[in-house]
Amino acid sequence: MLPMSLARVAEIVAGKLHEIPDPAVMVAGPMIVDSRCAVPGSLFAAFRGERADGHDYAVAAVESGAAAVLVSRPVPAPAIVVDDVQAALDALTCWTARAIPGVTRIGITGSCGKTSTKDLLGQILDRLGPTVATQGSQNNEIGVPLTVLSATPATRYLVLEMGARGIGHLTHLTRMVPLDVAVVLNVGTAHAGEFGSRQATAQAKGELVEALHADGAAVLNADDPLVAAMESRSAAPVVWYGRGSSAQVRATDVRLMGGRPRFELHTPEGRATVELPLVGEHHVSNALAAAAAAFRLGMPTRQIAEALSTAVATSGSRMQVHERPDGVTIVDDAYNANPDSMAAALQALVSMAAGRRTVAVLGDMRELGAESAGQHRAMGELAARLGVDIVVGVGAWEAAAIVAGAADAGTTAHLVDGQRAALGLLSQFVQEGDVVLVKASHGAALDALARDLTAIP
Ligand code: ATP
Ligand code: MG
Repeated sequence: MLPMSLARVAEIVAGKLHEIPDPAVMVAGPMIVDSRCAVPGSLFAAFRGERADGHDYAVAAVESGAAAVLVSRPVPAPAIVVDDVQAALDALTCWTARAIPGVTRIGITGSCGKTSTKDLLGQILDRLGPTVATQGSQNNEIGVPLTVLSATPATRYLVLEMGARGIGHLTHLTRMVPLDVAVVLNVGTAHAGEFGSRQATAQAKGELVEALHADGAAVLNADDPLVAAMESRSAAPVVWYGRGSSAQVRATDVRLMGGRPRFELHTPEGRATVELPLVGEHHVSNALAAAAAAFRLGMPTRQIAEALSTAVATSGSRMQVHERPDGVTIVDDAYNANPDSMAAALQALVSMAAGRRTVAVLGDMRELGAESAGQHRAMGELAARLGVDIVVGVGAWEAAAIVAGAADAGTTAHLVDGQRAALGLLSQFVQEGDVVLVKASHGAALDALARDLTAIP
């Protein structure tokens, strides 16, 4: 947080000081919502969740060093009492986002690739100046404030992953955090069930560019027509990125080496070779988005390419490759799934296998609404078309549709009803040389299966 006294915090959030003997005490640590993360000087915001009430952990937070707690009812600890803790967090975020001297605020949204792009851009911009980027996928109404509030007066770049789970969500976030650069990656089928249609999804994601001021920039994917149409909603000029020749920031000579893309990055300023350390051709698009934002912020092309080529993959998302000592490769992409990312993962599996036998262990994709069964079936068919050798569907829900799609299209396919059965089956036939992809929605919890598979033998 920016250093400020408890009295100043109370003023910004219109709260009352409670059991605070010295209002001049400074808040120096981060804003937290989990009392176990308390460190000296932090401020603990007490939220009421479905299972737990943060107010019950206020005393523990202070015992672990928190300077005070932000609460909606008095607790036996130094506190700032407000009507609504979320509104107080918003007010503090609003104030902080405007108070960091000389900071550039970048928001990233899209149906898939937000975390990957955010991680790439965060690492690129860190070369230009101190950068604070979203941790993991904390992209909602609590995660965005916590990220902004983790900035310091030295922060020069704020890279924020922003999720849109409905109309108005991004407008809310961008009112709180005015953006200088807004990046929109794609409008996929993700969460189409929640939104009702891709058009509605595009409407919601386009809110990110609506809030831009005229001297900001919209970084838009020229390859996605629903994203390209957002140009008319932006007061700021567009930096186009994409695979086509009309894009300002684009890639040519894309080749995959062990599934990892190598390409020539072109910007209006120059060109340079990128060797991405990530698996899957879909990351070319994410890298171009990050490059376009960095280009707009004045970074030389060669430096962008260097930063992309040395980026470190963060855990908890995207394709993690584990080489087992017995010569089996496990590709863990079980963090989440939708039809676009599952298709991308299947393509990556085949491209990295380079002739080795491929096994796709696929679980349910959630939140697809009325299209769900058809989309699952289509994934099985796609796996077969791409030449995946064996498909294993895991789960009692939609996995059967994946297996039916794959089998009907001529690929060996097995259905198992859970992780234990999957592990049993795979242990029987997986052998040296195989490349095994594990992919499903987070809710299908196949990450444990991926871990178990990695740990064998
Ligand atoms: P979430 O909404 O869960 O936070 P996200 O938008 O942050 O997701 P990532 O975590 O970067 O997305 O990636 C999610 C999945 O989508 C991974 O499996 C990743 O490999 C895949 N993916 C990433 N970028 C793309 C892309 N441009 N096209 C298709 N799939 C992608
Ligand atoms: Mg994410």
